[in-house]
Amino acid sequence: MRTSQLFISTKKEAPAEAELLSHKLMLRAGLIKRLGSGLYTWMPLGLRVLRKVESVVRSEMNAAGAQELLMPAVQPAELWQETGRWDVFGPQMLKITDRHERSFCFGPTHEEVITDIARSELRSYKQLPANFYQVQTKFRDEIRPRFGVMRAREFVMKDAYSFHASFESLQQTYDVMYSAYSKVFTRLGLQFRAVAADTGAIGGSGSHEFHVLADAGEDLLAYCPTSDYAANVELAEAFAPAVPRAAATESMRDIDTPKQTACADVAALVGVGVERTVKAIALISAAGDFVLALLRGDHSLNEVKLGKVDGMADFRFATDEEIRSHLACPPGFIGPVGIAANIRVIADLTVAAMSDFICGANKPKFHLSGVNFGRDLPEPNVVADIRNVVSGDVCPDGKGGTLELCRGIEVGHIFQLRTKYSEAMNCVFVTEQNTQQAMEMGCYGIGVSRIVGAAIEQNHDERGIVWPAAMAPFSVAVVAVGYHKSEAVKAAADDLYAQLMAAGVDVLLDDRNERPGSMFADMELIGIPHRVTIGDKGLADGIVEYVARRGGEMQKISLTQAKSFLQ
Ligand code: ATP
Ligand code: MG
Ligand code: MG
Ligand code: MG
Repeated sequence: MRTSQLFISTKKEAPAEAELLSHKLMLRAGLIKRLGSGLYTWMPLGLRVLRKVESVVRSEMNAAGAQELLMPAVQPAELWQETGRWDVFGPQMLKITDRHERSFCFGPTHEEVITDIARSELRSYKQLPANFYQVQTKFRDEIRPRFGVMRAREFVMKDAYSFHASFESLQQTYDVMYSAYSKVFTRLGLQFRAVAADTGAIGGSGSHEFHVLADAGEDLLAYCPTSDYAANVELAEAFAPAVPRAAATESMRDIDTPKQTACADVAALVGVGVERTVKAIALISAAGDFVLALLRGDHSLNEVKLGKVDGMADFRFATDEEIRSHLACPPGFIGPVGIAANIRVIADLTVAAMSDFICGANKPKFHLSGVNFGRDLPEPNVVADIRNVVSGDVCPDGKGGTLELCRGIEVGHIFQLRTKYSEAMNCVFVTEQNTQQAMEMGCYGIGVSRIVGAAIEQNHDERGIVWPAAMAPFSVAVVAVGYHKSEAVKAAADDLYAQLMAAGVDVLLDDRNERPGSMFADMELIGIPHRVTIGDKGLADGIVEYVARRGGEMQKISLTQAKSFLQ
């Protein structure tokens, strides 16, 4: 394609509301345009990137034996009533009513719809296992949409669902999908980590998340460098294997708890303001009560608050006495409350001690919900501090390693649903012995549109985006300096462009009548991996200039070899 035909809208500055670098760069490069809160248009350049991600995802899903279909985005309430999720999914679900006063939702996920298909189409063990996927728009009314496409309300997800005659068969497909996910993120050129995860509102038993590693990630991951152990800290077991999974985890999810939104949000929500908050640690009980500790830059305590997650308006400064009596009140809290008597000590504690308080010898009775930073303030070594505390413990897998912490962006999530949906919706099949049995199910999500933001978070420099090859909107930029003034430049640029196109290279010819500096700046901001500059001066010696976006010296290559060099 030629830049003269491509809609390019690059900007020097990003709008003030964009906090995160990837969000800023996506707006500046003109990849997306905001329509409303959590609603974005994918502009032509951005859509090229999104399509590239989709195509990698599709090819690995097909290779894993999944079949593509496309389900309606709008779903009837009756299906969700069968599983009970119409009432429990919570405010993330956008409910709509048609002209006949019938209730629908704009699908936040599709377990009910696919199970409805399976129960009518898959009748016999001979038809199992089956695995279906779609790439589709989802809507979730996120409590705080932010970071552009990374936490949008409308977003593109690849969701797959598998059906099985036995648990062994489910486990096999789960493993196949686990490895397909690893291939997707490897092919996309991303640094990622798979971690054991909480099953949240989707439910089920086993589950893993795939995280793109980035400091700006909302999730805190604990992993053991010397073994396979890795878990989302959301999972209480990461720090406290002795603590049973909080029974109330699902309901906490359903009410948009700060567990999901991270503590900086909690701080903002209760009017403390992120600017003043260097870091916040929230301890959330199973009943949805929580204690929020806000810490200063020197890690000393700024203030402690307590409240109910669904009643944040009631948030207020808490006295030690109140906290003590609050924590001493057992209903709904996980485990014993003996440690509560120590709450007063928090006031003088450093982060390390705070972590000790949470993860210490007495074993916690709370989720450590997260650690977050006021983004405008220099970040103290909070993670390092917590690491110090954690190191010395024995990894939860009992193999003797020590835990490390890092931050991640959840880009994929796979679940063993077992029979949660098939039982609720009577999705049964006839076995070899001619009996009826509920199908085992798995489900597998990838945040296709989130990946674009996450990739930028991991791949950028001061000049803009540095795309991994597989997701770049174009792989080569041919910048023609003086295209409109020099016949020689025009002829050489058109010729190289035609050769590269014919060779199937995704090439962008910059044939605009702009200053070279601004053409270079645009190509760099947009993040095209390879750039060739053609100008009168070099052409006189039969030379063009090559530079890689990821860095490295400029190289002079002969025009005649340019095609084979770039192919
Ligand atoms: P999160 O914890 O970030 O809210 P989730 O656990 O609610 O995500 P899942 O139900 O596991 O999300 O959905 C599958 C995938 O869809 C996620 O792994 C993520 O990549 C993506 N996703 C979820 N919510 C959003 C969103 N609001 N915007 C963009 N992508 C999203
Ligand atoms: Mg969510
Ligand atoms: Mg999650
Ligand atoms: Mg998830």
